[in-house]
Amino acid sequence: MVATPLDHLMLIGGSRVAARDGRWIDSFNPASGGIWARIPRATAEDVGEAVSAASQAFRAGPWPDMQAAERALLMLRLADLVEQDIERLALAETSDNGKPLWEAISQVGRVPKWLRYFAGLSDKQAGDLLPPEQNGILAYTSREPLGVVAAITPWNVPLLLLTWKLAPALVAGNTIVVKPSEIASVSTLLLADLINQAGFPPGVINIVTGYGSEAGTALVAHKDVAKVSFTGSEATGRRIAQTAGDGLKRVTLELGGKSPQIVFSDADLDAAARGISAGIFLASGQTCSAGSRLLVQRSVHKALLDRLSTLCSRAIVGNPLDRRTHLGPLGSKEQLEKVTSYISLGRSEGARCFIDGSRIRVPGFEEGWFCGPTIFTDVDSRMRIAQEEIFGPVLAMIAFDSEEEALHLANDTPYGLAAGIWTQDVGRALQLAPLIQAGTIYANMFRGVSPAAPTGGYKASGIGRENGMDAVREYQQTKTTWANLSSPVADPFPPTSI
Ligand code: NAD
Repeated sequence: MVATPLDHLMLIGGSRVAARDGRWIDSFNPASGGIWARIPRATAEDVGEAVSAASQAFRAGPWPDMQAAERALLMLRLADLVEQDIERLALAETSDNGKPLWEAISQVGRVPKWLRYFAGLSDKQAGDLLPPEQNGILAYTSREPLGVVAAITPWNVPLLLLTWKLAPALVAGNTIVVKPSEIASVSTLLLADLINQAGFPPGVINIVTGYGSEAGTALVAHKDVAKVSFTGSEATGRRIAQTAGDGLKRVTLELGGKSPQIVFSDADLDAAARGISAGIFLASGQTCSAGSRLLVQRSVHKALLDRLSTLCSRAIVGNPLDRRTHLGPLGSKEQLEKVTSYISLGRSEGARCFIDGSRIRVPGFEEGWFCGPTIFTDVDSRMRIAQEEIFGPVLAMIAFDSEEEALHLANDTPYGLAAGIWTQDVGRALQLAPLIQAGTIYANMFRGVSPAAPTGGYKASGIGRENGMDAVREYQQTKTTWANLSSPVADPFPPTSI
């Protein structure tokens, strides 16, 4: 079944399988532009088998009868196995999406922490005892799983973002069909071995690979999928919400962003420059919460720009396997074309391209898809480079004069994922926080994530929350049970005395 040593197999009902019709998708290494692996191209038929395995595992077999603590044990075993295999999994991510290896190691390295946090929540899921309606009546709620969950993930952070779905969905007792991005599926397929070694019953976790327009649509539309948990672009999120709506399925949608970073004149500008650079240039800006919209008080505009320029001049763009590299290549050729076309667009819209990373050439990697830090100044909030998610290392600087103007600009986008506020007056930051329409606010920092911290979007950035206690609720439904213990049952047709 494995045609070449480059091939990786799916996981359906506990078995490693290729697509039934034997078709494959090439996976490209963004640093070299060459093919480095192949993944199965699943069709609706393969997806149907995976959903059927997940339905079977949800209804019968060991999974539905397991105590919460037993499920937690499987998650803890998986956490240990991932921890022993971080380098291999991270190397697969770097080979697939071009992220510097040190960054991929750091992201995959967080997976065990997330699995352990949610494993710890497993046996703490309780319902409520409801206030009595009358004496002798007991009423309580219990939290039940939904059934088969479809988890659809993007290419930029494959395993960690999958864990944000997998862990709470398992805690709640669901079974899962995962569909990773066709651009970066290999680390998820490698995880399949570890899932089997951890001892998950067959069918509890299934992994199908393929195109979004083929395997993805079939999965979302499948009648036996109860919930779709999706991380990806706004456009795909809208399509998924429509299909899920037709089937009355629940959704969690973690979508794109155009997150503002607000810098007031009293900010520690050195710290702000570091936080802003990390927030937009690390991962080459391919982060949903990238702080791509820099709002800076006019009086410190030049001082901040000087600091950002100095930092950018030190950024090393190059071989993602070299530990000194800060920015690897972009995730795909299409992504490079998209980012460079936005850089041209910014110029034609009248912004000033103060630093242009699109001209970068990396010796020895002439076919790679590289783009370095790029900074636009003189940006107007209405320009497309200030409104649309570029998903690349491109920063748009907008000057403001008053706090009121800063607040207006911060909310002047369709998105609402995150926002950063830089000021030494923490009171001011905390007063602004509730006025900014974003799911996460950072004051004098940016890009913090934790398994305990709910994350998600306002407006076009999505629906629902991942992480924290809230996340498990996204995969549960509430049942209310009433029991009459000692109350007389009233006669509905009492005899009349006429
Ligand atoms: P994408 O929307 O192109 O693809 C995401 C996933 O959806 C892939 O697995 C793809 O195969 C699948 N897909 C595509 N079309 C589909 C369809 N019609 N039905 C079902 N599945 C379909 O996104 P991407 O390019 O992989 O990822 C980048 C985007 O993800 C950016 O917009 C980024 O902001 C967003 N993102 C958001 C978060 C967050 O937490 N909010 C995190 C990371 C990335």
